[in-house]
Amino acid sequence: MQNRNKRIAIIGAGISGLVAAKVLEENGFSAVIYEKTDRAGGRLKTDIVEGFQMDQGFQVLLDAYPMAKKHLDFSKLKLQKFIPGAVIYNKSNKYTLGDPIRNISLLRSTLTSNIGNLSDKFKIVRLSIALRRKSIDQIFEETETTTKAFLETYGFSEGMINLFFKPFFAGIFLEPFLETSSRMFQFVFKMFGEGSATLPIGGIAAIPEQLLASLSATKIQYNVSVKDLSENKLTLDNGTEIEFDYAIIATEPRFKNSYTNQLNWKRCDTLYFTSSNRDISKPLIGLIADEDALINNIFYHTSLGMDVKTEEELLSVTVVKQHNLSNAELVEKVQQDLNTYCGINNLHFLKHYAISKALPDKKNIKNKTTTQEITMNKNTFLAGDYLLNGSLNAAMASGEHAALALISTMKI
Ligand SMILES: Cc1cc2nc3c(=O)[nH]c(=O)nc-3n(C[C@H](O)[C@H](O)[C@H](O)COP(=O)(O)OP(=O)(O)OC[C@H]3O[C@@H](n4cnc5c(N)ncnc54)[C@H](O)[C@@H]3O)c2cc1C
Repeated sequence: MQNRNKRIAIIGAGISGLVAAKVLEENGFSAVIYEKTDRAGGRLKTDIVEGFQMDQGFQVLLDAYPMAKKHLDFSKLKLQKFIPGAVIYNKSNKYTLGDPIRNISLLRSTLTSNIGNLSDKFKIVRLSIALRRKSIDQIFEETETTTKAFLETYGFSEGMINLFFKPFFAGIFLEPFLETSSRMFQFVFKMFGEGSATLPIGGIAAIPEQLLASLSATKIQYNVSVKDLSENKLTLDNGTEIEFDYAIIATEPRFKNSYTNQLNWKRCDTLYFTSSNRDISKPLIGLIADEDALINNIFYHTSLGMDVKTEEELLSVTVVKQHNLSNAELVEKVQQDLNTYCGINNLHFLKHYAISKALPDKKNIKNKTTTQEITMNKNTFLAGDYLLNGSLNAAMASGEHAALALISTMKI
């Protein structure tokens, strides 16, 4: 019982920190969270700009994520589902490719599209069935190669890889060469096959807001940056020292721990525009398959239900290729690309998010860590997607693991 009064500090109110706090509360403990910014959510933030609801970077919640099923209440989030498939822009043509098993209206367009050959379409079905039979743990135990090598070995044609897999997964992995681990590819493909890509009606930040609302005993201090951390004391940027008995570091690796200086990041740009009409009427993602294009994918957010209603359409455009353009040059180039590759014109530019630390860039990605790997010292534990892989599922799993490791240490 004495342990219930132990002072627990969590540094960082991203998804991993919030899930850690939730799991602590579920087990009768409570923490104080110290968060550098003015709100919770970390990389999950939504802004309202000029009356439009915009996520800070285009991202989706896959509702098949086991950790999301466990820690989130989907019905309260009013998840809006994307149609499984994509509209592909290539050489001034537009094709719709879908999962005809789940959306029969896409059968004809999928079979008659110029994307891949018939054998590719059978291979997609074969891969989906194979991944359904494989557990997530099995996927993460497999020998790692690049996604590109995996697809080539699987026998997909060059056309299928270049016109579908490359733009689709470049947008997810935030790198255009498909160098990301084949484990991540299989995991994400499995999750897409077993559920839907979704967005909460209130935007992506509704996820941390829901986790935050589930906490009743946890306290949060915003606008406090933790500068240093020793065995029982953390020091804030303003020099204040705070003592703790146990801590969870749920930030990117920034204190002296085994991961310091070992992490690279993938960056991206997301730009928002308004327009009077939609080039894609249904909630399907648009992929730009032309190699020369700077833009990777587009999505009309107004094709999904949103809390904030607008008369104009809201379009996001994501760039994953590296560039040296100034902000103004980028806005101009993106509009040029939209015109050249998609025939989309007459846009009003709203906002540009340049996200320098979007996803951890890691090899040897995992689905689980050992307690030893997340133990910084006897009373301090690590959480964060970077410990496993760049996904919301991983962020939640890491937060849960850190909280459980802390609790079992207290019980010793
Ligand atoms: C553009 C983009 C697209 C993405 N797409 C997807 C997607 O489609 N699907 C998916 O599953 N995932 C996606 N992700 C990844 C997902 O958002 C992350 O995996 C997840 O949000 C990471 O949560 P975290 O808690 O590990 O880290 P973070 O969200 O980075 O949280 C860390 C927190 O610590 C705080 N902090 C840092 N330093 C300090 C300090 N010194 N003192 C106090 N506080 C500090 C930060 O302010 C932050 O709130 C995407 C991410 C981005 C940016």
